[in-house]
Amino acid sequence: MCILHTLFFLNKFVHLKTISRDMKKIILLLICIILVSCNTAAQEKKEKKEKKVYPVTKTKAEWKSTLTKEQYKVLREAGTERQWSSDYNSNHVEGVYVCAACETPLFKSEHKYESGSGWPSFDREIKGNVEFDVDYNLGYARTEEHCATCGGHLGHVFQDGPRETTGKRHCINGVALKFIPK
Ligand code: FE
Repeated sequence: MCILHTLFFLNKFVHLKTISRDMKKIILLLICIILVSCNTAAQEKKEKKEKKVYPVTKTKAEWKSTLTKEQYKVLREAGTERQWSSDYNSNHVEGVYVCAACETPLFKSEHKYESGSGWPSFDREIKGNVEFDVDYNLGYARTEEHCATCGGHLGHVFQDGPRETTGKRHCINGVALKFIPK
């Protein structure tokens, strides 16, 4: 977000011929200060998240030995599975979706819907079992969600879900889930 804003201002102001040299210097200095403060804030937030101790905590080596390569990439490194790659996209069986890493129940089948996005989608989570954060990995703010028990990354929440229910689309990596039929 900060970088996009900065580029916008840079483009808008620095090339204006009407601005004096001193003014340009001040603007560039301000941009530098904003960039540094944004990076510091993002770093502090990242460190704070990494320091949080979840009820289920394992070392990198332990996670690597219990998860598949793809699960590790998504759950522990906040990766994204390939679109339409999850069999859960077309799963319409009644049951509950638990965390693939620690088996905490995260989503119910009754709240799953066809979003057409290519990732399993739900209009709500099982309250208390999922935590939310903001990430800027794509240069803009997105609501990231992760398992409240092990901290495993699940996906993101968007505001284009079904209007007749919550209006939210929990866009979840199928590989981060395990389905338990009713
Ligand atoms: Fe978990």
